[in-house]
Amino acid sequence: MNRRSFLKTAGVAGATVALGKFPLSPVRSAEASAAGAPMPSWVDKPMRWAQLTLVEDDPGKFDPRFWLDYFKRARSDAVCLSAGGCVAYYPTKVPFHHRSTWLGERDVFGELVAGCRKLGMVVIGRTDPHATYDDVQAAHPDWVAVDAAGKPRRHWASPEMWVTCGLGPYNFEFMTEVKREIMSRYRVDAIFINRWDGSGMCYCEHCRKNFRDASGRELPRTAAPQDPARRAYILWRQERLFDLWRHWDAEVRKINPDSCVIPNTGGGATSGLDMQRIGELAPTLIADRQARRGLAAPWGNGKNGKEYRATMGRKPVVGIFSVGVEEPYRWKDSVQSEAEIRLWVADGVANGLRPWFTKFSGVLHDERWLKPVEELYRRYARWEKYLRNERPLARVGLVYSQQTAWFHSGRVEDHTLGWYQALVEARIPFEMVHDRLLDQSQVGAFKTLILPNIAALSDGQCAQIRAFVERGGSLIATYETSLYDEWGVKRKDFGLGELLGVTFAGQLDGPMQNSYLCLETDPGTGKRHPLLAGLEDAPRIINGVHRVKVEATRPCVPPPLTLIPSYPDLPMEKVYPRVLRTDVPQVYLRELGRGRVVYFPWDIDRTFWEVLAPDHFKLLRNAVVWATNENSVVAVTGPGVLDVTVWRQSSSLTIHLVNLTNPMMMKGPVRELIPVGEQKVRLRWLEAAKATQVRLLAADKRVRSERSGPFLNVTVPSILDHEVVAIDL
Ligand SMILES: [Zn+2]
Repeated sequence: MNRRSFLKTAGVAGATVALGKFPLSPVRSAEASAAGAPMPSWVDKPMRWAQLTLVEDDPGKFDPRFWLDYFKRARSDAVCLSAGGCVAYYPTKVPFHHRSTWLGERDVFGELVAGCRKLGMVVIGRTDPHATYDDVQAAHPDWVAVDAAGKPRRHWASPEMWVTCGLGPYNFEFMTEVKREIMSRYRVDAIFINRWDGSGMCYCEHCRKNFRDASGRELPRTAAPQDPARRAYILWRQERLFDLWRHWDAEVRKINPDSCVIPNTGGGATSGLDMQRIGELAPTLIADRQARRGLAAPWGNGKNGKEYRATMGRKPVVGIFSVGVEEPYRWKDSVQSEAEIRLWVADGVANGLRPWFTKFSGVLHDERWLKPVEELYRRYARWEKYLRNERPLARVGLVYSQQTAWFHSGRVEDHTLGWYQALVEARIPFEMVHDRLLDQSQVGAFKTLILPNIAALSDGQCAQIRAFVERGGSLIATYETSLYDEWGVKRKDFGLGELLGVTFAGQLDGPMQNSYLCLETDPGTGKRHPLLAGLEDAPRIINGVHRVKVEATRPCVPPPLTLIPSYPDLPMEKVYPRVLRTDVPQVYLRELGRGRVVYFPWDIDRTFWEVLAPDHFKLLRNAVVWATNENSVVAVTGPGVLDVTVWRQSSSLTIHLVNLTNPMMMKGPVRELIPVGEQKVRLRWLEAAKATQVRLLAADKRVRSERSGPFLNVTVPSILDHEVVAIDL
């Protein structure tokens, strides 16, 4: 099947026979050769990145020596420097490539490149193609993005500029010339490309024609994922961008074979490009989650790291952090508190990200960030040996699903966030898993997989999950998991119904007001199920907000949780339960050989993210503990909220403890770091028997460790922001 006929087929709603094949797989096989391009030799070297994004009036105003000195003091070993695109910082000869008005006869980019090379740094050039000028619009009106009404788009923030089309000749031709010129002149190690994938929908003549040629359809006018044109567009846009990526990559490698392009791309479930294919194509990637905004937990940077690593494997993933306040108002010259920066970066590093600070403007309007970042980088330079991770040792995998977000609902993210918060609170080390990487070679290291309302799953994915459980793995699933196929088309019954032990009873309930769960005791034993640990004195707890009506396909006696249906919450005189008790299970538990299955037919995870009720937390934690059914790789007991991660390096093990305990934990910025007291760390790892010494890296001292059976016990007296227990083997 060629790409065009494939896209046409893919555009037919509900044609499940024709859609039996996985949507992007025909293209993926063709991609193997592009993905086979050699890994540039420098890729795994840098551990501490710097980025200086120049503003147009920097040339002649900023002091390059200041920056070179700072990179050196901060022990940065790689740098990303502004080269061209929107503004060229070197004497470009590419027509319409706008030189900085302040450039004069200078070559600011070249001067910085030379200076950084003298410091032994890896040097990459930054381009940004998303905006252009009147002369370009006049000469090449088809390079400019067009809105749904057919009007060329002015730039939203700089109205004298135009927004470019990301999928047409501006990128494919003009920006290719720019990249060729930069690579020919400077032979940089890579070209980083910011904002390269278009700025929202474009209805220009090229996009209309190319989409029509590929799909036989007009560009979509709705965002509904079941609109056949939208579905085809979601796929077509990706094809264009992957084509563009491969094109740019091939062109720069023709000039410098030991280079590549690094598009700023990817993320979690809601990102628009398939992370599995990104993971195959990219030698390294930059995870761009610069800081917290609004209501955001301080583990967001680490989550981003986990999401990228899920498809990048051992390829280096770098985490961009901003030193400024990242809210919608975009105070780009602002400075965060030191505590906020430290915590954000620490959580990224603990989750395997190599830090990358980014600063806009060579002239500093506020220097307060310089010292904290320098100190952090010097710390990470001292710890470098222990930050070169080979693999995480977590036994729990939290699955994320782009196809569920694309074709079912982007709200799936709230279910994931609920699990993420619960796992952090429970101090259970875990990884994130991409739903297209579920075969044995990818999930074999995990004991338990969690499916947080992964609604859209193909038959093939369901088979992989069943095989995981048959091999002794455990599974936890919530709400509508597997009730839709990979296109978001509803099934008659759950794809995983047999495994979950339920069949769909034809209805979704919600939002439910004032509904509860009854906690049941086994009448045979007089005991409660371990799922209810910590809730011994609770007769009932609050329910979630949405539930799927299901029927058990196998005996579920006695169910630990049963439904107490909604009853009026006003007027107060009417607030009494109409039904005190039902026999409707609200959790389904199974044991299959060595594996265990837990299914909550309601939105426990999403509700937890919204309400953060401690009773729901206990159920989530207990579900993982019961399903996993083994001693945790690492158990950490003590006060506070810690993000705990465990890693293997070539000759050591590390346990990262990031102290998130803070009154500003869910909404920043953090004012101060608040130390937590003594933590008892218990590591279960046979290799620990070979430990030669145990050090606390932040405290910078050796500590005593005690062996008892298969466990190694270490006491950490206190943690300010980030402690690492490092065990040399
Ligand atoms: Zn366009």
